[in-house]
Amino acid sequence: MKSFDLIVIGAGSGGIATANRAAAYGAKVLLVEARELGGTCVNVGCVPKKVTWQAANLNETLHDHLEEYGFYAENATLEFEQLVKARDEYIARLHQIYRKNLTKNNVTLVHGYGKLVEPHLVSVNDELYEAPHILIATGGRPRELEIPGKELLLSSEGFFKMKKLPRRVAVFGGGYIGAELAGIFSAFGVQTSWIYPHLLPLKRFDKMLAENLVEDYRQKGMTLYPESKLAKLEKTPQGIRVTLTDGSEILVDQVFSGAGRLPNTDRLGLENAGVEVDSRGHIQVDEYQNTTASGIYAVGDNIGKLDLTPVAIAAGRQLAERLFNGKENARIDYDNVPTVLFTHPAIASAGMSEADAEKKYGKEALKIYHSRFTPMFYALSDPLKQEKCEMKLICAGKEEKVVGIHAIGLGVDEMLQGFAVALKMGATKADFDQTIAIHPTGSEEFVTMR
Ligand SMILES: Cc1cc2nc3c(=O)[nH]c(=O)nc-3n(C[C@H](O)[C@H](O)[C@H](O)COP(=O)(O)OP(=O)(O)OC[C@H]3O[C@@H](n4cnc5c(N)ncnc54)[C@H](O)[C@@H]3O)c2cc1C
Repeated sequence: MKSFDLIVIGAGSGGIATANRAAAYGAKVLLVEARELGGTCVNVGCVPKKVTWQAANLNETLHDHLEEYGFYAENATLEFEQLVKARDEYIARLHQIYRKNLTKNNVTLVHGYGKLVEPHLVSVNDELYEAPHILIATGGRPRELEIPGKELLLSSEGFFKMKKLPRRVAVFGGGYIGAELAGIFSAFGVQTSWIYPHLLPLKRFDKMLAENLVEDYRQKGMTLYPESKLAKLEKTPQGIRVTLTDGSEILVDQVFSGAGRLPNTDRLGLENAGVEVDSRGHIQVDEYQNTTASGIYAVGDNIGKLDLTPVAIAAGRQLAERLFNGKENARIDYDNVPTVLFTHPAIASAGMSEADAEKKYGKEALKIYHSRFTPMFYALSDPLKQEKCEMKLICAGKEEKVVGIHAIGLGVDEMLQGFAVALKMGATKADFDQTIAIHPTGSEEFVTMR
């Protein structure tokens, strides 16, 4: 049996970050991965998604805005297979970089499925490994829907395997994955139907964002099916017939589901080690990522807190600081984590939604600032091709502390990070007002709202 200081199960965002940081402090680390280095983010999440989103943006610009600026690109056509090939090559380069860094840090990498046999004993490919510290960073996977014809349904993982764009597509799911996939297809010119179960999508976000998004998507020609669910899918000679729970039917070439994710915790042998999970399978952890079993920790999507790559990375690195660098109070702060949705246009959000702020502070204690404008990129555009940008600041108390920042529109994805620092530092509206605007930009609206 081989012994290590730390065994990490799962080489995704959280696992790799923890392994490298722990090894940098001299820990002897084993990293176990069943699939590919980089996990969801690199292989079937953030990375290929962002590349595809960028390509979809280019497609929109090419068709809708190039000529306004005096460009004529007559023979520009999209070779989707070429895009997929280039994207896969980029991911292969990322794998190499990860592998190189792990080797440089002396992390031992084993390919196989890790399982807890006893509290500090892990089996991989019938070999046993022991360590006083074990990190479970196994992430999650798409939730499957139990409906007739479910074999015709593709998940977000299927989206990244797709080599050809469909002509007509239906996307199910009102969360960020559904919103992003529907937006990408539509921006590529695919006839898109977006089906989601509530009146508005993105129910965890400020309502203003979802209201604008559905308006933008409708304007682009997407067909929306709010308050709808999938009832069944059938193959017909004309395509896949999608029947919704209200009986309406849509005929498409492919159907994608972004109907939530499940934690990868069911086949890990957690019961052999006394690691408890909640009713949805998420590992129970305290604020220091300790599970219910001593010396066993969990970070990332399998704890069901905030499913974001930088969150998994930060939680893992803080854990390594605590275990191997003597920083006994090191832990991640899960408050006010900023996030971006790569929709068309993008959505950026940090802090509380207006509804959450009302619950916490009361309506009377809040002051809401808004700005809705046409970004200057569209100065030369036909009004029908102009996408509005809307921004909102939620301020609380007499001092008007900024507790929520929300925006949808061109470029907001790259605006939020700096404003998120201000929010985290406890900035007030007066601090925003005292910052001189950068002109002409969209972000200046954040410091000039009245
Ligand atoms: C479509 C999509 C788009 C996304 N876009 C973004 C985005 O834009 N920005 C963002 O911040 N986040 C995004 N995310 C979320 C992000 O990918 C995750 O939050 C992040 O990858 C979580 O990291 P993790 O370490 O918890 O798990 P993962 O990255 O999923 O890694 C877990 C790893 O563990 C391995 N594994 C599982 N069980 C075992 C086992 N028993 N033995 C060995 N290995 C095992 C898996 O194969 C996997 O490689 C997106 C996710 C999806 C699905």
